[in-house]
Amino acid sequence: MKEQAFLTSESRQRMNDKANKFLERGCIEQNGDNAWICKPILGYNIHTYTIQKLPDDTYRCNCQGFHKNKYCSHIEAVRIFISRNTPVTTESQRTFAYA
Ligand SMILES: [Zn+2]
Repeated sequence: MKEQAFLTSESRQRMNDKANKFLERGCIEQNGDNAWICKPILGYNIHTYTIQKLPDDTYRCNCQGFHKNKYCSHIEAVRIFISRNTPVTTESQRTFAYA
């Protein structure tokens, strides 16, 4: 997966912590083929954000953080969400037909 923003390891860690908070509380939901929503955590924020995956494999979010840094905890959460929900395909299971 390509990196779309240059973040310090510290801000990256903070973002990852936030992303895991969203995932733990079930805030991330698929909302179409290449779109997800991030529902608010009660007492933490009040907005539902929309995250979209673009054809060039980058993500976009409608929050302030994305506007500023071109990356945000919502995108981080969606990326983790996708990696957990993508089944691993095994090459060895492929069958060949011989003529
Ligand atoms: Zn965001």
